[in-house]
Amino acid sequence: MPTRLFIDGQWTEAGGEPIPTRDPATGTVLEDVGTATQADVDAAVAAARRALSSPEWAGLAPVRRAKLLFRLADLVDEHHEELAALETRDQGQPIGISRQVSVTGAAEHLRYFAGWVTKIQGTTNPVSFPDTLHYTRREPVGVNALITPWNFPLMILVWKLAPALATGNTVVIKPSEVTPLTSIRLVQLAEQAGIPAGVVNLVTGDGPVGAMLSSHHDVDHVSYTGSTAVGKLITAASAESNLKRLTLELGGKAPSIIAADADLDAAVAGNLAGATLNTGQVCAAYTRFYVDRKREQEFVEKMAAGLAGLQVGPGLEETTQVGPLVSDKHRRHVANLVATGRSEGADLITGGSEVDRDGYFYQPTLFAGVTDSMTIMREEIFGPVLAVTPYDDPDELVARANDTQYGLAATVWTRDIRTAQRYADGIRAGAVFVNMPPIPDMAAPWGGYKASGWGREMGPWALDAYTETKAVWLHYGY
Ligand code: NAD
Repeated sequence: MPTRLFIDGQWTEAGGEPIPTRDPATGTVLEDVGTATQADVDAAVAAARRALSSPEWAGLAPVRRAKLLFRLADLVDEHHEELAALETRDQGQPIGISRQVSVTGAAEHLRYFAGWVTKIQGTTNPVSFPDTLHYTRREPVGVNALITPWNFPLMILVWKLAPALATGNTVVIKPSEVTPLTSIRLVQLAEQAGIPAGVVNLVTGDGPVGAMLSSHHDVDHVSYTGSTAVGKLITAASAESNLKRLTLELGGKAPSIIAADADLDAAVAGNLAGATLNTGQVCAAYTRFYVDRKREQEFVEKMAAGLAGLQVGPGLEETTQVGPLVSDKHRRHVANLVATGRSEGADLITGGSEVDRDGYFYQPTLFAGVTDSMTIMREEIFGPVLAVTPYDDPDELVARANDTQYGLAATVWTRDIRTAQRYADGIRAGAVFVNMPPIPDMAAPWGGYKASGWGREMGPWALDAYTETKAVWLHYGY
């Protein structure tokens, strides 16, 4: 597939050195993808700026803008199997996840925001001035840099692209250098859908290319999903350049509370799904398990049996439940944290090593006897590594669950509505799930407290991220 940059409606060669993207199930190179230079980034931002006020885009009636988004959703559906296979080959996720979560989710998101295009409203406001009509307009923020991670490349790009276009913005996309292929393919489909030149631009490359966007004086908003460490760099770059607006979806370390009255089999099934989806490479993955001491042994035994029984293999095999980690570098990161868990005295119950085959596979791993201060309880592992700790006193649990820099998601397993409500109220996280895995939905807000980020994606909240509110004061008493 062509892997060039897309700037102002043209596919152009990148000025910088190509970076190989690999199949994590085998380690083989899939494609060499170009690296944009500063000149390429400047050209993409300039094209997005011009398109912002072009008659072809700014002059487009909302109903026609909606039609373009519906058309792109249809094209995603028409290329469903191709996109799913491409996502699995580049990212490693099981093909069923690529189909149901990544590709179907992308099409549904596009349709959801296509529906919003004709419903974005201002307000009239009862200001206390005589003879004055006061109303607000929702205007596009402007040129948006969309910087995405490698864990759900297609779906997370669409979380940003759909509301950005729905609200009349223009964008420069910078996918992760580790998994760029479905983003490139989506841009080709956007071109095919008839989105005008300059509205959607694509620059590929690694961190420095992202940094060129976050420090750019003519970018109005960066919507970024990725690590908290890079989120801080982007915040500094914004402050040092033009104080551009930021939406930050960062790391997580979600607690899972298993109360004494929980339906344990349901909790085991839900936590297995919530902890190992996409090989644990999920920002909201359940990783810290606080289990009532009376149920601890049963929970650990059942989780260990469940983890050991998961089918680990290449994502393209239909029976695979856990695919490879995304890269050799990331597998070393996971292995190092597992080694730290062992050296700090946690009990390794199952897993704990690489799988002896080609590719970047790692065994689903369970630690018990973990304490709150251990590294595996505090740092984001972003792999299939679970840590269990008992609790005796439910009164201490909210504080223990909140004892983290992160605040993206949390879950409670209980049959008692009062227990559920108590933790849902007390836990400082953007989403609290009761008796279910952490699956986002386009109609519900998604985002974090604390070091998990700023702002919310999805639903009407995403419209706020991509619009400015202008107040118009119209005095008619002259
Ligand atoms: P990452 O921070 O390494 O990279 C993300 C993107 O940022 C990539 O495109 C990368 O090239 C770019 N980048 C790197 N350095 C940059 C810089 N200095 N300036 C601008 N851009 C730069 O993240 P990752 O490893 O690809 O993704 C995993 C992380 O993403 C995890 O921490 C995970 O929790 C987080 N994540 C969060 C959410 C959420 O909704 N909160 C969702 C998915 C992933």
